[in-house]
Amino acid sequence: MSANLKVNSRFGAIARVALDVPIAPWFDYRIPAELDERIQPGVWVVVPWGRGRRVGVVLSRAESTQVPEAKLRTLDALLEDAPIAPAPWLSLLEFAATYYHRGVGELGLLAVPKALRTPPSARSRKTAFARAAGAHAAARVQPAVPPATSEIPDASGLATEGLTAGQSKTAAAHGTALAYTLGVVPFKRELNADQQQALETLRGSRGFSVTLLHGVTGSGKTEVYLSWLEAVLQADPSAQALMLVPEIALTPQLARQVAERFPEIETAILHSDIPDAQRARAWFAAASGCARLVVGTRLAVLTPMPRLAAIVVDEEHDGSYRQQDGVSYSARDLAIAAARAAHAPVLLGSATPSLETWRSARHGRYRLLKLPARISGASVPRLELIDTRSTRLRAGLAPAALGALEQTVARGEQALIFINRRGYAPVLGCDACAWVSGCEHCSAWRVLHRQTQQIPRRYQLICHHCGSQTEVPRACPQCGSIGLSGLGRGTQRLEEELLECLPGARIARLDRDVARRRGAAQAVITAVHEGDVDLLVGTQMLAKGHDFRRLSLAVVADGDAGLFSADYRATERLFATLMQVSGRAGRDIAQSQVLVQTRHPEHSLFAYLQAHDFEGFADALLAERLDAGMPPFSHHALLRADAEQLKDALHWLDQAKAQGEQCLRSSGSEPGESAENTPIPDLANVRIFDPVPMPMARLMGRERAQLLVESSQRASLHAFVQRWLEHLRAVRAPVRWHLEIDPGEI
Ligand code: ADP
Ligand code: ZN
Ligand code: ZN
Repeated sequence: MSANLKVNSRFGAIARVALDVPIAPWFDYRIPAELDERIQPGVWVVVPWGRGRRVGVVLSRAESTQVPEAKLRTLDALLEDAPIAPAPWLSLLEFAATYYHRGVGELGLLAVPKALRTPPSARSRKTAFARAAGAHAAARVQPAVPPATSEIPDASGLATEGLTAGQSKTAAAHGTALAYTLGVVPFKRELNADQQQALETLRGSRGFSVTLLHGVTGSGKTEVYLSWLEAVLQADPSAQALMLVPEIALTPQLARQVAERFPEIETAILHSDIPDAQRARAWFAAASGCARLVVGTRLAVLTPMPRLAAIVVDEEHDGSYRQQDGVSYSARDLAIAAARAAHAPVLLGSATPSLETWRSARHGRYRLLKLPARISGASVPRLELIDTRSTRLRAGLAPAALGALEQTVARGEQALIFINRRGYAPVLGCDACAWVSGCEHCSAWRVLHRQTQQIPRRYQLICHHCGSQTEVPRACPQCGSIGLSGLGRGTQRLEEELLECLPGARIARLDRDVARRRGAAQAVITAVHEGDVDLLVGTQMLAKGHDFRRLSLAVVADGDAGLFSADYRATERLFATLMQVSGRAGRDIAQSQVLVQTRHPEHSLFAYLQAHDFEGFADALLAERLDAGMPPFSHHALLRADAEQLKDALHWLDQAKAQGEQCLRSSGSEPGESAENTPIPDLANVRIFDPVPMPMARLMGRERAQLLVESSQRASLHAFVQRWLEHLRAVRAPVRWHLEIDPGEI
């Protein structure tokens, strides 16, 4: 007994380790005597876990633990080649774990490439960290090809295994000896007055602050980001900066822009599409402080950066910053938390900021900078509505839209046609009976896809939710009729029909099916830039970022998608998409036009859109949300459950609700202050709604339901959720469930 006490109470004998497993926020391990001196917060260790071992990061040392002596295990090894995780990063992880009610490592180690999370085998002395370091060092001394021809200096083939950790450390120490030779002479633009003013304000930022840069598309926001980052990186030769971008598709373009702008600075590109070995190298470069600029998608926000001095979040409103499945989080919100932890400024940029951000800027919590005009001096495009109720459509397009496309091609200019559905037709249906191509695993239709361009054409039915594929039946499975046809229109069909309507026009398509083939999306984009394409048909993918010079017309085939959705955020998203699509037109051409086809031309959203009045739209929407008590005026948590039978999911949620109400009732009898004299948040304003099936109830053969919790006070919501989760986690559930904080879609 006394021996136990001695071990457990010796100062700092316990290490609190974050592991990527749920259950607990962290896990306690005994520190072996021979490692005692070297186990500090931020070091990476190997610990025993069940019958195996895991890699984790030490959060802190403790004098004692609640783990009983018999169960307390000793950590295995220290990973010496791993860069020590910086303290602000550890506090970011702890914040994120608390905010999203998850284990510290569950969220925090998400961004650590798999290779680095794999414990080295007992015999091998060499860790994945050492390999990443070696690969990184090798890549640094290789002259890279000019970035104009190869987007990211791709050095996956250079990953030299032969380097020892010692050598890599030497190479890493010579952080400035980067030998990238560029085929492009970097040049700087003269900022215009608005950009200059924004830059001056940003340069004055010291410590933590949040700034919103609100500027229409083409107003030169990117130039402001880069100029600011340049100033930050120049002012302190060891400073690091992080730039988050929404889409993978955008990253190569931006990576090139960055490489041109910062030829002397090592840049790490981080997103989930990069092969793991290459990601490990990039992660190592960032975590060791060698890469001074990290550009990446949402996961990159969780990269440890020891000298983090500035963060940019481009298109801060973008839905892809939100991770919904599994461990859900918002990378935009975490970017703000990361900046706070590092005492660094963060810049959010958008033409259509999220209502949350807009409200904070309006209230002075965030600083608001504006770029009101387009760079080229070109006016924003004229936006016209086409009422499709009263016209006959061909290829889904009104005569006015087809005519405008024809004229644009005749003038030698380019046009894009936006349609947010990929595939040939959204559904295959029987002409004789009511049969449609439903997915057996999901509450969704299988989409008709054309497999080849050649004749005879081949088609397939694909579910966009579970990915299941089937052949097109020869006859209706229900009535045997052979009259089956695709209903509605996707990108493939529109492309095909446009070829008939506008013979001679050079038409290209850009959507996720095209982008799946490596380099194909980039090839389309290049073809558009080089003038080899007259008409570009595409989805959301082409709304983003691309700067096409000769594009003078944008046609939105269906402007109503999302107008009357059950999700209260749908109009906000529609407005952002339509603004973005319009932003593609007329970047350089004085006379440009946007045509939106709609069956609801009287909807107020279109009036704001025509006036290019984001502020008016946002303020009106905020007023509506205030009236309805919706976010950002209230805070949500969403409990989701899925089971084989819908009734089981609903039943479990019913029980969870009862449990929640119990938590709310029992909170009333407690004293108003906790032991630490901090007031306990009032739970009276927490409201638990009834469970309902999700809008798309069946997914991959599972039936899904959800339950919404709402509170006007964030602190109350979190206090409640914490208590509630303790109860929910205490019993094994007969369903799969998870809880999302600040859900993006309801
Ligand atoms: P945004 O990010 O706001 O959509 P960009 O930063 O992409 O806008 O700028 C639009 C275009 O204007 C780009 O081609 C960019 O290179 C160019 N540009 C930006 N700032 C300037 C400037 N000060 N002078 C000349 N061209 C500029
Ligand atoms: Zn039939
Ligand atoms: Zn499916």
